[in-house]
Amino acid sequence: MSLDFLIHAARRGREKAYAPYSGVKVGAALETEGGKIFSGCNIENASYGLSNCAERTAIYKAVSEGFTRFKRIAIVTKKPETFYPCGACRQVMIQFSPDMEVIVANTQGKHKLFKARELLPHPFLPKELLADETRKGTKGSLQKTG
Ligand SMILES: [Zn+2]
Repeated sequence: MSLDFLIHAARRGREKAYAPYSGVKVGAALETEGGKIFSGCNIENASYGLSNCAERTAIYKAVSEGFTRFKRIAIVTKKPETFYPCGACRQVMIQFSPDMEVIVANTQGKHKLFKARELLPHPFLPKELLADETRKGTKGSLQKTG
């Protein structure tokens, strides 16, 4: 899968963006480790907090189809300057594939490439949810005290 093809898929995803409030249309194309492509777009809502970014739309589509290991994601906007993923999307990328490549591109053909872990240093990881007792080697048996 060429990088140009992935960016083109993200541009196609952008065409479906639902952004009546910000007017900023974003597209994404996610490539799984097996080479399957999932596109996404931003989806805004009148209740702003319910809006969803293109990156997470693509990732959640993939996860809902059983794919959780990702090679890379291309994100495309029309903005002349580089457009970076928000913190929530970076966290979701790290959750599944910290080493995935993140390509930020615009419709004018500029792009930059990063690793997901470069974009979110010191991430909150699933291991943070393990109980302290589990880390000490008592996995699965949280002991009662007293
Ligand atoms: Zn986001």
